[in-house]
Amino acid sequence: MSALEVSYECCTEIPRMEFVCYLWFSFFKYMILHAHLNGSEKGTHYALDLGGTNFRVLRVHLGGRRSSILGHDVERQPIPQELMTSTSEDLFDFIASALKEFVEKEGDGSETSLDRRRDLGFTFSFPVKQMSVSSGILIKWTKGFAIVDMVGKEVAGCLEQALTRKGLNMQVAALVNDTVGTLALGHYHDEDTVAAVLIGTGTNACYLERTDAIIKCQGLLTTTGCMVVNMEWGNFWTSHLPRTTYDIDLDADSPNPNDQGFEKMISGMYLGDIVRRVILRMAQETDIFGPVSSKLSVPFILRTPLMAAMHEDDSPDLQEVGRILRDVLEIPDVPLKVRKLVVKVCDVVTRRAARLAAAGIAGILKKIGRDGSGGLTGGRRSDNKMRRTVVAIEGGLYTSYTMFREYLHEALIEILGEEVAQHVVLKVTEDGSGIGAALLAASHSSQSVDRVQ
Ligand code: BGC
Repeated sequence: MSALEVSYECCTEIPRMEFVCYLWFSFFKYMILHAHLNGSEKGTHYALDLGGTNFRVLRVHLGGRRSSILGHDVERQPIPQELMTSTSEDLFDFIASALKEFVEKEGDGSETSLDRRRDLGFTFSFPVKQMSVSSGILIKWTKGFAIVDMVGKEVAGCLEQALTRKGLNMQVAALVNDTVGTLALGHYHDEDTVAAVLIGTGTNACYLERTDAIIKCQGLLTTTGCMVVNMEWGNFWTSHLPRTTYDIDLDADSPNPNDQGFEKMISGMYLGDIVRRVILRMAQETDIFGPVSSKLSVPFILRTPLMAAMHEDDSPDLQEVGRILRDVLEIPDVPLKVRKLVVKVCDVVTRRAARLAAAGIAGILKKIGRDGSGGLTGGRRSDNKMRRTVVAIEGGLYTSYTMFREYLHEALIEILGEEVAQHVVLKVTEDGSGIGAALLAASHSSQSVDRVQ
């Protein structure tokens, strides 16, 4: 038992500087989107946000001045499990129907004309080869989606065909990743926002880069001189990242082996399952959990919110831990000592995830010169004071899991140092991925489109 704990403790020891350097060298694997909002966007705009276990449809009312979102309506729906592995037509028809119902409720709730052409911001949070602001080809699925016929297809086109089949006159004006939508909204409200991070079912980040610092964009003129770089950091990997046997087995059993290694150590889809694997091995190698429950061998039975509930159980006798072990994993009552051990496993897995995410954020700040190193290039002004740096952040793991959030902040201070860290603001940007896509759709519906790859 203690050996298991030790092996987990080892994984929380991140070779800090080394890791940060590797991370920023790996930046050169990215997708780029030319994005600019000038604040004059106005009117009612729609967005569709697809990227996790739920999808959202949104209607956003813009006032025509910077930071003037007059209001927004949002509806969430879970994606039926079978649609995540079915055909592109089934998935998009389902989404198009939901969007149609939502559009029909425009205004005072009475039926509205579906013939009028509307523009749509489409947040599609999977690795995409961006062809233009409004089109892109799916490279591969992540987060448990596995619709084979969709890979290699142009995503916005597939959605538009489904919308047409449902009799909805809508056109994708902006196709964006959730990180890009979040950055767009963050920047719309606060111009010091330079990056966005998603830590939910999956994980990823994007940041604002000078166009002249991007080799493939040399000579490309953009209004702001900046581009958004979607890092797809979930797929970051290096042999310097220590992986346990649990990580290796989880990867091998996943629908996308050898892929998304960083994501599998950090995001909400996987943390609960890592904990399940550790408990399973403890149960097999010791008798502390009694006879080995067959439930412990069911993949993803221990979902991350359940793991968080055990981790954050503050009752003196860890009642919630006991309940989840009993009701979900069918492990009958175990002594308090054992329940404490379960909490410790949750703690180690979460702490490692949060520290890795913090190292990723520090890597971005280093790349764009906001980590305090190297004088002016480290984000200092001419008076040697640090510039304020805002990172927009979204995703349930960060927003709903207090311990994860605390460990992430703690690690960021450890890596950047107190002085620099106090100028770095992690700002939760609620519904940013969807609202940001609506903003970008509003902005791009009337602008020309740059081809960037
Ligand atoms: C996807 C990214 C996405 C992230 C967060 C990852 O699995 O590859 O495109 O931004 O999840 O949703």
